[in-house]
Amino acid sequence: MRSETFVSVTYRKIVMAARPQGAPQASDFRLEQASLRDLRDGEMLVTNLILSMDPAIRGFMDDRPSYLPPLAIGETIRGMTLGRVVRSKNAHFAEGTIVRALAGWEELSIMDSAALGLEAVAVSEGIPLEHYMGALGASGLTAWIGMNEIGRVQPGETVLISAAAGAVGSVTGQIARLQGCRVIGLAGSAAKAAQLLKLGFHAAIDYRGIPDLSAAIRAAAPDGVNVYFDNVGGATLETLLPLMADHGRVVVCGMVSEYNDQDHPYGVRTLWQLVVKRLTMRGFLTYEHANRIPEAQAQLNAWVRSGELVAVNNVRNGLEEAPQSFIDLMNGRTLGKTLVRLPANSNQI
Ligand code: NAP
Repeated sequence: MRSETFVSVTYRKIVMAARPQGAPQASDFRLEQASLRDLRDGEMLVTNLILSMDPAIRGFMDDRPSYLPPLAIGETIRGMTLGRVVRSKNAHFAEGTIVRALAGWEELSIMDSAALGLEAVAVSEGIPLEHYMGALGASGLTAWIGMNEIGRVQPGETVLISAAAGAVGSVTGQIARLQGCRVIGLAGSAAKAAQLLKLGFHAAIDYRGIPDLSAAIRAAAPDGVNVYFDNVGGATLETLLPLMADHGRVVVCGMVSEYNDQDHPYGVRTLWQLVVKRLTMRGFLTYEHANRIPEAQAQLNAWVRSGELVAVNNVRNGLEEAPQSFIDLMNGRTLGKTLVRLPANSNQI
């Protein structure tokens, strides 16, 4: 009986209607219905519960080579999802398992063991599911790997973070504080800066609201910045390099200021400071540091459970909200981790 109803199931998904020119717009996305096909051996059917809104999605929408292939017009928007396995022909993932994977903006996903980033999520009682897509998910892990594996922060050092009120930044700053650093955050509004101080940052700079970012950073870090955790690149990176302390480290997590217009990258004019200050500048992708992930996950779990680390989530409801949530993210209008929650009963499974 179950398999007869199964073939007739339809579900909703959001596809790329057009490649964005500049910042993404509503017309770049389209809501579509799709029919579910039968599962093949090794596959499982996942009902998606939470979609993660990530700046990297903007990169997938450009027709240019990157670390993953570009999306085609009409293809489901690719993104990290958290869901529950509702049917399984995969021996490693039983029905009922909560999984995270790089899937798409769709109510139902069929995946097999090769799905990028696929993992079973051990959900602790009392911890909201959303946290596993934010501070306890890829954003938190990125913050931890960036601080410890790439930045190798030491207690007493001064750490500066851009996009500090965002998903990765808000966790990065709290990790640095918990590891005994002095933490300065840059954020794009006075409200965001106020939030950073509430999270325990020692200083917060509303970079859009001040005339001279360099002077503001010098005042907050008179002895220089030991670790710059860069989420934005561009003009902010250019400003930071001369303000680094000798032997400082630049952790290149992302360059969100470039993502909406990759044809016109900002020419950073202060690279000579790498020599003057003997700096190390290193990019990374979190999933390549699998050997450190269990330690990172355990520490993040413990901090969240004890209340020492606050997970800031910005949650919208319903698949149809995904495009606008993403547009807001790419326009600096969000605070904390931006997520879209799909009602568990949003499909017929
Ligand atoms: P997020 O910080 O929650 O959201 C993006 C923030 O970037 C916005 O809130 C805004 O903050 C800032 N922003 C947006 N457009 C900007 C622009 N044109 N110029 C300057 N700032 C702009 O996003 P997230 O998910 O935490 O990602 C942060 C960074 O981490 C991104 O660069 C992302 O690609 C990177 N990342 C890297 C990895 C990895 O493995 N390396 C993994 C995950 C994420 P303000 O209002 O404060 O400017």
